[in-house]
Amino acid sequence: MQKRYQVVIVGSGPSAIFAAITLIMNGVKDIAIFEKGKDIQERKRGRGMELLCGWGGAGAFSDGKLTLSPKVGGFLCEFVPQTELTNLLKKADDIYISFGAPKEVQGQSSDKTEALYQEAKQAGLEFIPMEIRHLGTENCAPLLKEIREAMRDKVDIFFETPVKEIFAEGGKAAGVLLEDGTRVNAAFVICGPGRVGAEWIKKEVERLGIPSVPSPVDIGLRVEAPASILLKLTDIAYEAKFIYYSKTFDDRVRTFCMNPYGEVVTETINEIVTVNGHSYAKKKTENTNFAILVSSTFTEPFKDPIGYGKYIARLANLLGNGVIVQRLGDLFDGRRSTPDRINRCITQPTLASATPGDLSFVLPYRHLKSIIEMLEALDRITPGIFSRHTLLYGVEVKFYTNRLELSPTLETKIHNLFLIGDGAGITRGLMQASISGMITANEILKRIGKN
Ligand SMILES: Cc1cc2nc3c(=O)[nH]c(=O)nc-3n(C[C@H](O)[C@H](O)[C@H](O)COP(=O)(O)OP(=O)(O)OC[C@H]3O[C@@H](n4cnc5c(N)ncnc54)[C@H](O)[C@@H]3O)c2cc1C
Repeated sequence: MQKRYQVVIVGSGPSAIFAAITLIMNGVKDIAIFEKGKDIQERKRGRGMELLCGWGGAGAFSDGKLTLSPKVGGFLCEFVPQTELTNLLKKADDIYISFGAPKEVQGQSSDKTEALYQEAKQAGLEFIPMEIRHLGTENCAPLLKEIREAMRDKVDIFFETPVKEIFAEGGKAAGVLLEDGTRVNAAFVICGPGRVGAEWIKKEVERLGIPSVPSPVDIGLRVEAPASILLKLTDIAYEAKFIYYSKTFDDRVRTFCMNPYGEVVTETINEIVTVNGHSYAKKKTENTNFAILVSSTFTEPFKDPIGYGKYIARLANLLGNGVIVQRLGDLFDGRRSTPDRINRCITQPTLASATPGDLSFVLPYRHLKSIIEMLEALDRITPGIFSRHTLLYGVEVKFYTNRLELSPTLETKIHNLFLIGDGAGITRGLMQASISGMITANEILKRIGKN
């Protein structure tokens, strides 16, 4: 390994990959990527950290829904003007297509979209129309392999090489210290550690004195119902995104990650098992699943939303040995679901390993009430979702890193140190994470006179 590079990139998720692609396409040669996980062909789906770490980051085994709306999947619109963001989105999308993403776009707007928008308003819901390019779970890894191949010999990539510290000298980025004690110098450091690196980056920014504010924590349940019940929404919107403000608590509640004909899956991070969902491009189940998440922002003196989310997730694990599933009918009757009751349920669970149980022992009243209210509102536009046979899986938790104080090019107060992607608390999806890498790379190109 060289001990000096022009650019060092931490992580190899979409944010880091798109930073590297942009630099390489513009002739930058002296780049190193340090990734604590494995290369794509060695990664295995569903094995704890391996699911989230390695080439492709958290997106490698994801459903691969590329959201084509600049307003969804992060907060980059607060950093970059709308027209520039739209241009970057188009460029990133073209890159994905050039590496094998399908050409078709789902959820294109029509008269039906407008009608649904109006109907949702009457039900007290805000409908956010959104176009999606759907890679499908089985196509993500091959696409990432193509990108990896294209980068061979153009950038030094080190797997299973965690970065321990970022170091700065005289207010300027100077390089990184690897876990094995090697110091690597660099003129520019780009850090894209993702949500899986949230705790590490939190410590690092505190040590470096980079200001940040706690992000909200989103806690909720995954809902599963026969695909036919949600057909009206999934036919029009594919990824139907609704926002609701709960009557009792005025909390922001939203649907997230809708998977038509998909399956519910578990996600394990640091031994905490949570629930998620995905769908294949070709293989179909009889059900559709989506999450309902309640956003909570804590005020003084509490500053650990990630700790709070983990606590709730651990509680579900404690009671259910992992993920708990409950029929909505059983929740109303104040009793647990049992294997027998689940067997009699019209909706058959796609996650067979979930333990039938009682989610009212897990979620705070505030969250449960808000979720039930939103399901009731959704039932007005998609009758049948508020049924006794709807399945609820818990818990689904989205931890976000503290939002860091960053410049419009995502630079920290330390000159030439950039923080990108989900780990910087500014993006929440593949597309915006990718764009964040491009924004930073473009700035570096300017500084080294290549743009
Ligand atoms: C199951 C699942 C499904 C998803 N589905 C979708 C979807 O359909 N559509 C969508 O838009 N988004 C989806 N997402 C979210 C999406 O994957 C993320 O928003 C995106 O991957 C964030 O990119 P990133 O580069 O910021 O971070 P990540 O992809 O998380 O990558 C960060 C990388 O940095 C590495 N790293 C961390 N710390 C260090 C360190 N100290 N040293 C070295 N390496 C380090 C990690 O190992 C990891 O590989 C999904 C996420 C999950 C978990």
